[in-house]
Parts: sequence; C-alpha cells; structure tokens
Amino acid sequence: MSVADKPAAADESLKIVEDATCTFCGCVCDDIDLTVKDGHITEAKRACVLGKSWFFNHEIDQRPSCLIAGQPASLEQGIERAARILAEAKYPAIYGLSDTTCEAQRIAVGIGDWIGGNVDTTTSVCHGPSGMAFQGVGEVTCSLGEVANRGDLIIFWGSNPAESHPRHFTKYSLMPKGMFVPRGRKDRTCVLVDVRKTKSAKAADIFLQIKPRRDFEALWVLRALAQDLALDAREVEDETGVPLATWQDLMDRMKRAKFGVLLFGMGLTMTRGKHLNSEALLALVRDMNAHTRFVAKPMRGHGNVTGADNVVSWRTGYPFGVNLSRGYPRFNPGEYTTADVLARGEADAALVIASDPMSNFSQGAREHLASIPYISLDPKDTPTTRAAAVAFTTATYGINVAGTVYRMDDVPIPLRPAFDSPHPSDFDVLSRIEKRIQELKNAVRV
Ligand code: SF4
Repeated sequence: MSVADKPAAADESLKIVEDATCTFCGCVCDDIDLTVKDGHITEAKRACVLGKSWFFNHEIDQRPSCLIAGQPASLEQGIERAARILAEAKYPAIYGLSDTTCEAQRIAVGIGDWIGGNVDTTTSVCHGPSGMAFQGVGEVTCSLGEVANRGDLIIFWGSNPAESHPRHFTKYSLMPKGMFVPRGRKDRTCVLVDVRKTKSAKAADIFLQIKPRRDFEALWVLRALAQDLALDAREVEDETGVPLATWQDLMDRMKRAKFGVLLFGMGLTMTRGKHLNSEALLALVRDMNAHTRFVAKPMRGHGNVTGADNVVSWRTGYPFGVNLSRGYPRFNPGEYTTADVLARGEADAALVIASDPMSNFSQGAREHLASIPYISLDPKDTPTTRAAAVAFTTATYGINVAGTVYRMDDVPIPLRPAFDSPHPSDFDVLSRIEKRIQELKNAVRV
C-alpha cells in the first residue's frame, strides 16, 4: 500500500502520501513522499526545485466550479451550456490535454468524435515535428529503465535537462548504477550538442557547440560518417561550426558504444527544419543499429503530454492535429492544428482543457478564439478561463485527482493524490458533457 495515513507525531491533521507522482515535467517522478497538513503540502521529499514549487504552490482556487459568461452557475447549467455549444457547432476545436489524466483525455477524444471536431494537443506547439517524424521514419526506442541499466553513451541534442528536467541525470540517464553500467556515471560518456553552452554542459564529458539552425546538416554529417563516406573537412566545419575530426571522434564513440542513447529536445524540433531535423535524428539512430544498439527518445515537457500523444493515437491512429469531421480521422499538421485553425478563423466553437492558448497563441488565433463561444477546464484562473463562455474550475491532477499519466518514455504511471478538492475533476466534467452531447445528438453509445 503506497498511500499511508499515518498518525505522525500523534497529529491527526498530518498525512503522509508515499510514492506520490510529480506531474510537473515529463520525468513524472513517482517516488515523492508528500507531507500534507491542513490541506497544504508542507514537504515533498526527493522532489527537485521545480517539483517542490509545483507541490508547495498548490492552492485550491476559490472561484466557483462553474462560471457562465463570468457569472457563477451550477455545474448542471454549465454542462448544459457547454454541451449545446459543442453539439451545435459546425467546426469545433478541442485543444490542450497535456496537463490532465489519460482518463480525461480519452473522454475528450470521444467528444471530438461525437461532434465531428478537431482534436489537437499542446504537442502541436512543442514536439509536433517529432510526432510527424515518428509517423514517417519510426522510432528505435526503449524505456528510461533500460537507459539507466544499459546506456553507456548518452547524447543530449538541443535539450537542457539540468534546468528543464532536473532529476533526469540522477534518476535515469547519467548517475544511476545499472545492471550493465555498475559504476554509474564512471561507466557512461555524456555528450551535449547544442547551439549554446547551457547549464547541462557542466554535466557532459563532451560539449559540441554547433551553429544555430544547422542541426539538420550536423545530423547528416553523422549519417554520412556512419556509412564511412568521405566528407570535405572545410565544408563540414563551415556548415556546422564543428570540425570534421570532432564529428569523426563522436561517430567512433557511437560505433564503439554498447548501448547508445540520443535524447532530443525542442532545441532540435523547433528550429529550422523542424520535422526534417527529427527525421534526420531518428534515421541516424536507425542507421546506428547496423553497428551497435542505439535508441532515441524525445525529452517531453508537460507532465502528461506523452499521455496525450498515446491516448489520441490509440483512439484515432494519430498523435495530434486530428480532424474527425468526416467520421474518420484525418491527420494534417498545419491544417488541423489548433493554432492554425484559429489563426485562419475557421473554428466556430472550442473546448480548451488544461491549457492557456490566450497567453501563448498568435494574436490572430487569440482574437478568433475570443470571438467564438468556447469552454475551458482549468484548475487556475488564466486569460483563457477569463474569456470563456463556460469556465469550469477543476481539481488538479496528481495533487487532488487520481488517474494515469505517461512518463516521457511511454510508461504509464498511476497518480496518488494528496488531498481532495471541492472542484470536480476534468474527467467528471468531460464525462457529463459527453453524455449530454450524446443525448442532444439523439444517439446512444453501445
Ligand atoms: S524532475 Fe520533473 S517530475 Fe521529477 S520532481 Fe522534478 S519537476 Fe517533478
């Protein structure tokens, strides 16, 4: 039993939740011991600085659980209004989903199916290019457990885990003593490839600073070296900013490695080339398997963005940017991704779950979203919730709500909530909206 209500120090108001899961970043650490006192988390053992901030700053939002046009309303009224907006829309967009449970994500995709809408997640504005590359090239991959037990050459490309995923080094990729790397860090070589010297460079044995926006060229240099092709040294250095001899040294290490790992971040996927960069990296890793065992994995950001990819994929066959208006799924990033749908002024209603597009979409997209009726579900008050036709204040996943999330390596992890919230979960609200939409559409799911 992992959740223990202990009468610690005979204080009845104290509760210890063992092995709770932090959903702040894609590491989804599930070994956090929380101390809860009077509805506040006062200690989060083993959490990093980001995780502590996530747990300690959690406050139950004092807004009503439902607002219609900014005015307090009952949940029933909110469900009815939301279901009617979505059921009557011609081109509704469903967006967000990376900061909620897989159970809620599953219902959201179901709603998209019932209303013939677009289903898109925040992947479309982070690792969307990787999602496209996976569809085109495939992914030779493994779990982080294998990285911890086997990885002897760890290459981070366009990623800064020291700041974005603080426990990645210690829990998975560099420090752990594993079955085939018994001396831990001493048995591993770490390489960092980036356009600037980040804090992660200190942890690396080798730092390669490439020219900005030349990731594609650099990866193709490695692909050529993997095939023992002759390259022009001056051209390689001009294009990549790194001497050919250094690339050759890296390739020699990659071929000698017993278990090589390439972990890539948004420094690769969101720079010039985008999905072509991810394709080049995935193809390089595929090539390397002619020499040794090599795997690739994206460094995912939001707590359950990997779950969003998985759930949307199991339900539609595609990870994000999916259109269901013809009764079957169509995948076309750029056409069906929400930022683009809104910027072109196409959607006539929206359902935004655990996301704040009003803060980070383009001005055109924000203006269009503000002009259409939309429903928001969020534990926090944000610019998106403030302009919503119906705003549901929901409980926070992981802290107040149980369920499942996926770690960045596609491993599902259960959540162990610390204390209850007076607000409903995303799953509860979405389930009720879906049921009401089914009634409005005069259809019964079997
Ligand atoms: S590494 Fe990420 S998941 Fe782990 S404790 Fe820190 S913020 Fe939370």
